Amino acid sequence: MADGINSERGVDMNASDVRRTALLVNTVILALVFGLMGFFHMCGADFLTLFSIPTAAVYVIGYVLIFSDKLDIYVWMIYFWLTLYMCITTLCLGYGYGFHLYCFSMIPVMFVTEYIAYKLHRRSMRAMTVSCVIAAFYILCTGYVACFGPIYERDQKYAAFFWIFNALIVFGFLIYYTNYMIRAVILSEKKLIEAAHVDRLTKLYNRHYMLDRLNSLPADSESFLAMSDIDNFKRINDTYGHNAGDEVLKTVAAKLRSMCDGCEVARWGGEEFLILSAEPLPYGVEMLEKLRKSVAGETVSFNGTEISVTLTIGVAVRESRQNVEEWVQAADKKLYYGKNSGKNKVVN
Ligand code: GH3
Ligand code: MG
Ligand code: MG
Repeated sequence: MADGINSERGVDMNASDVRRTALLVNTVILALVFGLMGFFHMCGADFLTLFSIPTAAVYVIGYVLIFSDKLDIYVWMIYFWLTLYMCITTLCLGYGYGFHLYCFSMIPVMFVTEYIAYKLHRRSMRAMTVSCVIAAFYILCTGYVACFGPIYERDQKYAAFFWIFNALIVFGFLIYYTNYMIRAVILSEKKLIEAAHVDRLTKLYNRHYMLDRLNSLPADSESFLAMSDIDNFKRINDTYGHNAGDEVLKTVAAKLRSMCDGCEVARWGGEEFLILSAEPLPYGVEMLEKLRKSVAGETVSFNGTEISVTLTIGVAVRESRQNVEEWVQAADKKLYYGKNSGKNKVVN
């Protein structure tokens, strides 16, 4: 029933995943800083070469903050410095090098960071505020360059290489983080739907889901419905304990699900299960008879004790103009009849 949720575990980050990712990102950026420092030196952009020294120091401090679990301060520091770095490189080299593009990837990463911090119950910056500040700095520094030109007028032969390299990184981040965000939303929605529709103990649909499902069926369908109730369940609880009772419920639920092929099964109440086939089920009664015999023929093992279990089942095919309440009551009546006439039977 919860299909697909496990396959999206990657989206469900925990604190150690976050730390590992932060370490990886920090190392990659530090390596880039050294690479760029070499390039700036080669181009004779002395100010940018010097500026790379405090930049490298920031990322070294970053390791200390990550290891001491001060991730919120780490994010503050990195965002402040990235914005500064982006502004200074753009002012010095102009936008032909593509450094200003980093603004576009910083914004989705900030929103994901706020989301992860919320999930981990950590403090976080407001992504909305930070994004507006980044956008303002973007406009200021690109506006300055547009009006007055870059501080260094360098050979443009390197610009194309940098533009492509920076654009690839920026698009990579944009695509990865936007995809991450939408996967996280879908996963979270799936979990909420599962929590709202599925019974925790038996993993069957719950009454709420089944009621909606019954109400969604056309009134003139000859849908098949069976109300099944475990016999003398109170005695099972009283004799073997509540945990043994729970084990019986789980075992019976698993059997109902595996044997009622093509049906939807719900836990209707404590030890009552509702089996529905939206389509007419010509051999439904035979199938239920087989199910009843199978439950009665096997015992449920719990802590070395073998517990005998039987079911009584009432069947009702929907009649024309019957509303859902009347239809369920019809199955209930058959069940009641079965209970009063010896139990462990299917009443059609
Ligand atoms: P009958 O054969 O007439 O159906 O009798 P019964 O004892 O099965 O029915 P009754 O309604 O008297 O008792 C149902 C019991 O189911 C009472 C309740 O404590 C128990 N029950 C309800 N939900 C759970 C549950 O989740 N776990 C366990 N272990 N017991 C539950
Ligand atoms: Mg019962
Ligand atoms: Mg009952």
